[in-house]
Amino acid sequence: MNLSSLSFFRNLRTEKRQFAVIGLGRFGRAVCATLHGLGYEVMGIDADEKRVARVLSDRIATHALELDSTDFTALKEAGVFELDTVIVAIGNYLEASIITTLNLKEGGVKNVVTKASSEIHEKLLKKVGADLVVFPEHEMGCTLARSITKPSILDRFELDPENSIVEVIVPEEFHGKTIADLQLRSRYGLNLLAVSQNNKFIINPPPDARLIGGTAMVVIGSNKDIERLPI
Ligand code: ATP
Repeated sequence: MNLSSLSFFRNLRTEKRQFAVIGLGRFGRAVCATLHGLGYEVMGIDADEKRVARVLSDRIATHALELDSTDFTALKEAGVFELDTVIVAIGNYLEASIITTLNLKEGGVKNVVTKASSEIHEKLLKKVGADLVVFPEHEMGCTLARSITKPSILDRFELDPENSIVEVIVPEEFHGKTIADLQLRSRYGLNLLAVSQNNKFIINPPPDARLIGGTAMVVIGSNKDIERLPI
């Protein structure tokens, strides 16, 4: 997620929210199961009877319905337009994904999140009113490539294309040095936000705190500066 998603997330209500997930493939099922596990009401929808039956037997949705989401009336009768957030998890059927998104927006659903499989798919989805378009395979692929090439970066939160907050393994070169010795800000252009100790993080550690190689630290800075760390 990035700054362009900000307005979408800012407008989401936080309470009493009900969701529907249309398309119960691997991605749709994961969204359903997580929402359900978090205690939200979630309706699972698919045109395939077996997939509908499976989410019910696996108990990963509150309700599940077999319907064709390209049919405006079917969605209306199922009460889908009354929900505030609907996730369209139909990636491979371009036409069905676009028509479903259009139906949901025309039916008055406030927040429609749709999974896209290509850039042109994304463009079309935006034209028919999708509020947020996601590329789960693309995003996971980028994350995986980063973690296998830089295994010392444990986690990364991209603030924008140029700047990130990263959790990294403290390099051996930093072992035993204090934060003041390292001069991360002047030498690397990075700010140290936290260091790990006994499975917890110390936020804003004092300048005389000593770093221990192999533990974790969290820094904020430009991607270019993060690349200069000896990790
Ligand atoms: P994933 O990659 O998440 O595993 P998938 O490869 O199983 O998904 P997709 O092609 O993205 O499949 O489709 C996801 C689901 O959407 C399928 O279960 C399919 O039956 C359902 N689906 C496709 N068209 C419609 C439609 N018009 N109405 C309702 N469900 C649909």
